[in-house]
Amino acid sequence: MPASSAELGDWEIASVQERGDLTFPTSLAQFQRLFPDDAACATYLEKARWEHGFICPHCRENREPFRLKNRPGVLTCRKCRKQTSLTIDTVMERTHSPLTTWFWGAYLLSSLTPGLSAVQFQRQVGLSRYETAFQILHKLRAGMVRPDRARIGGNLNRGDHVEVDETWIGGALRRTARSDTDKTLVIGAVEVLQWKPKRDVTVAPRNRLYAGRLRMEVLHDRDSTSLCRFVEAAVEPQALVITSDCPGYTTLTQRGYQHRVVAGGWRTGSDRRLFVDGPTSFPKSEILA
Ligand SMILES: [Zn+2]
Repeated sequence: MPASSAELGDWEIASVQERGDLTFPTSLAQFQRLFPDDAACATYLEKARWEHGFICPHCRENREPFRLKNRPGVLTCRKCRKQTSLTIDTVMERTHSPLTTWFWGAYLLSSLTPGLSAVQFQRQVGLSRYETAFQILHKLRAGMVRPDRARIGGNLNRGDHVEVDETWIGGALRRTARSDTDKTLVIGAVEVLQWKPKRDVTVAPRNRLYAGRLRMEVLHDRDSTSLCRFVEAAVEPQALVITSDCPGYTTLTQRGYQHRVVAGGWRTGSDRRLFVDGPTSFPKSEILA
């Protein structure tokens, strides 16, 4: 019988990046070399979960488990003989899709800056059903959000700032007497950081900018309370926040932020920077096919 998630305890995939013994692929070629099949993915997942070797969640035995040749995702304890699934307590739990599909999804999602739609994912990986592609991406995205996440913009260096912008996401806009019914208003805040080149490298100031962490939320309206409540929940006070000239942001200075406005909006303003369409262009490419 598989162990319950409570028995496995806390487990953070974020720590993979800090582990010297786990390579994080930096190219498609390297990804293919590292994860050619399910067995390779299972070995990686096992190492990520148990840095110092498998510990049975049932009896705490820390010994090399038995492995089934045709089921690489299952480990059997040498002492109590109970089975543990490698995917338990992860977004992949009880999945019918192979580990390689999940690994492809995780890699593409985290490495493609403009985002990845379910249709693109379905095509790239060759999945027969759109629903499978959608579910996998949905679960991976949900798993990427840390519940205890901190507010962004806390330790900005000189020249770094946070951009905030709103956008409508959804199908064609049909205006009715009451409201815009089939679009959703989404707000996003993104850290814009400056890469410091070495002294002998010449890089145009604009090309030194890159995106840090991102926070997003669905808004019900654009009034001052909604916009500022989002900024206060997402961004550390005292950070330099750049927004459009929407009147809802005017109280940000009173709320303890250094506030700057892009006159004329993101698209036309002379001040436009990394996110010409605003930080919220990102989810559009993820959602639209
Ligand atoms: Zn055991």
